[in-house]
Amino acid sequence: MKQVKKAPTVGMVSLGCPKALVDSERIMTQLRSEGYDFSATHDGADVVIVNTCGFLDSAKEESLAAIGDALKENGKVIVTGCMGAEPESITKIHPKVMAVTGPQQYEDVVGAVHDVVAPVHDPYVDLVPEAGLKLTPRHYAYLKISEGCNNRCTFCIIPSLRGDLVSRPAHHVLFEAEKLVNAGVKELLVISQDTSAYGVDLKYADSPWKGGRVRAKFYDLCAALGDMGVWVRLHYVYPYPHVDDVIPLMADGKILPYLDIPFQHASPNVLKAMKRPGNVDKIADRIGNWRKQVPDLTLRSTFIVGFPGETESDFEMLLDFMKDAKIDRAGCFKYEAVQGAKANDIDGAVPEEVKQERYDRFMQVQQEISAAKSDAKIDTIVQCIVDEVDGEGGADARSMADAPEIDGKVFLRDVPSDVKQGDYVSVLVEDADAYDLYGVVVE
Ligand code: SF4
Repeated sequence: MKQVKKAPTVGMVSLGCPKALVDSERIMTQLRSEGYDFSATHDGADVVIVNTCGFLDSAKEESLAAIGDALKENGKVIVTGCMGAEPESITKIHPKVMAVTGPQQYEDVVGAVHDVVAPVHDPYVDLVPEAGLKLTPRHYAYLKISEGCNNRCTFCIIPSLRGDLVSRPAHHVLFEAEKLVNAGVKELLVISQDTSAYGVDLKYADSPWKGGRVRAKFYDLCAALGDMGVWVRLHYVYPYPHVDDVIPLMADGKILPYLDIPFQHASPNVLKAMKRPGNVDKIADRIGNWRKQVPDLTLRSTFIVGFPGETESDFEMLLDFMKDAKIDRAGCFKYEAVQGAKANDIDGAVPEEVKQERYDRFMQVQQEISAAKSDAKIDTIVQCIVDEVDGEGGADARSMADAPEIDGKVFLRDVPSDVKQGDYVSVLVEDADAYDLYGVVVE
């Protein structure tokens, strides 16, 4: 007979107004969906949450008394709610509380509960699968580390839609990643609007992780994800200097030798008008340096052609950059005047037929680079992940150089019958076209 695992239990004290009550309900709903139970008494719980009210002095007194009771009867107490906006007002009286979070910081409260007592997933009891509800196949998952962006690229309206950068605390990201890996995910795709800015808004605050502390910092997060034993792929990395720091993690095989950096252009004039970093020589030097450390590094990028004011010589600079830097994978967009974008006010709109002509020339150069890179892989062995087995001896896979949906594929023949979706396999490449490879499993 199946043994149902004992659910961890949480005690909840909710004080204050209806808004605070709704906050408590949200926290409880989230915890319930993760398999937690609730205890009517403090001493029967693994941890107690006190949702405080700070509206009047009398309400503060009541909140502090409730925290004191919970500490006496249980000892493990997390405080949230209005009084959490001034944590010292609590910690100076109750220094033993385990965490203090402010009003509406549901994710932080739930994260603090995870730190004290981890959820136990039980497929017979939980409504939500261990990895959460996912729209991707089971073996890979997108891991969102932040929302919003502090940059103000003139063609982009994301900051006005989503606001400035808001990073998730490092242990929340890592906890989610671990959950995904435990549920069978073999490839984590790190995404955000600006991945390398991760943690700036949190001032790189550290949080508890695996008995130590982990900082909310690009390098530290990559290093911790790299310890999870699955593929980790970095997307939307803005080319800040500290991106160089993660290259050794790639050289050590901790994270995939793959960087998705949207360079957008290579002409200093256009980059300046875009409000993007403009020193292309420096970027070219850095790419050379990265490739010295990681010879099989794959660079994916996106570029915009026909940006207002782009001249033929600006565009040729872009083509030269593509050829010199040998950008492995590139998406190209013809500039579109998105409503609300500052770039629409820049003089020198490029006619549509010129945009199209530049787009075609760009794609021609890109295809030649990609074809040469693909050709060079013939007769070599590449590491792949299997996306789909067709049951008739064939399978679709991807190499380390290929992100799902946007890059190429590796088509396999005569696949051994025990190979399944999500397996890592070594593949001897037998043939190639501009974007895809063809091969056979050798291990
Ligand atoms: S293009 Fe990217 S980096 Fe620039 S403002 Fe938009 S989201 Fe931020």
